Amino acid sequence: MSAFHKKSVLVLGGSRGIGAAIVRRFAAEGAYVTFTYSGSPAAAEKLAAETTSKAVQTDSADRDAVIAQVRDSGPLDVLVVNAGVGVFGDALELDPDAIDRLFKINVHAPYHASVEAARRMPQGGRIIVIGSVNGDRMPVPGMAAYALSKSALQGLARGLARDFGPRGITVNVVQPGPIDTDANPADGPMKDLLHGFMAIKRHGQPEEVAAMVAWLAGPETGFVTGAMHTIDGAFGA
Ligand code: NDP
Repeated sequence: MSAFHKKSVLVLGGSRGIGAAIVRRFAAEGAYVTFTYSGSPAAAEKLAAETTSKAVQTDSADRDAVIAQVRDSGPLDVLVVNAGVGVFGDALELDPDAIDRLFKINVHAPYHASVEAARRMPQGGRIIVIGSVNGDRMPVPGMAAYALSKSALQGLARGLARDFGPRGITVNVVQPGPIDTDANPADGPMKDLLHGFMAIKRHGQPEEVAAMVAWLAGPETGFVTGAMHTIDGAFGA
C-alpha cells in the first residue's frame, strides 16, 4: 500500500501544469487531495472529477483567503505550495502593482500557508514549496522579480526547517528548470535559448517534478529538510 494512502494533502495551485501532475500523483496513491485554483475553473473541475479530489477557488494573492483555506483543510500530512506567476519584461517599464501581486503569490502565500499548515501538522508532516532554478541562476534579463521571489523561498525553507524540525516536520523547496506547461511550452519561442543552457536539452515533464515532490513527501526523507532540490537538466550547473 502507498505511503500516501488516506493521507491528507493540500496543493495550492493545482488546476494545471506542475500542480495538476502533483494532484494526479498523490490521488493515484490514495491520498485525500484538495487543491486550489484561481483563474481556471473548468480545468480544476475536470481534474477534480478525474482524480476524485476536491477543487476550491482560492486566489493565492489573497493572504487571508489562503490562510483560511489551509485552516479549513484540517490537519494536513502534506502541504505543497505550487501556485506561482511570472511578470517578465523591462524592469523600468513593468507595473509595480503587478510586481507586488507576484510577490504576494510567489512569496507571501508560501510563507503564510506553511506557517498555518504547521499549526496542526502531525509529526512527520511535509511542507514542499515549488521554487525555480532561477532562484540560483538568472541568465536572462527581464525576470528579476521572478528570480527574487524564487530566491526568497530558499530563506523560507532554511528558516522554517529550524522552526518545525523539532516536531519532525520537514520543509523543502523543489527547483525545476524548464518544464513543459502552459507557462513554458516545450515548443515555445524560448525553447532554443533555454536548451542552450542545459546538459539535457529538453523541457522536463510535470510528472518528473511530481515524482520529486512525492519522494520528498514520503517516509524515506525524514532527515531531508531546509534544502533545495533542483530538477533542471543542469540548467543551473
Ligand atoms: P502554469 O501557469 O502552467 O500553472 C500555474 C498553476 O498555478 C495553475 O494551476 C494556476 O491556477 C495556479 N495559480 C496561478 N496563480 C494562482 C493564484 N493567484 N491563486 C491560485 N492558484 C494560482 O505554471 P507551471 O505549472 O509551469 O508552474 C508551477 C510552478 O512551478 C510555479 O510556481 C512556477 O514558478 C514553477 N516553475 C515552473 C517552471 C516551468 O518551466 N514551467 C520552471 C520553474 C519553476 P489557475 O489557472 O486556476 O489560476
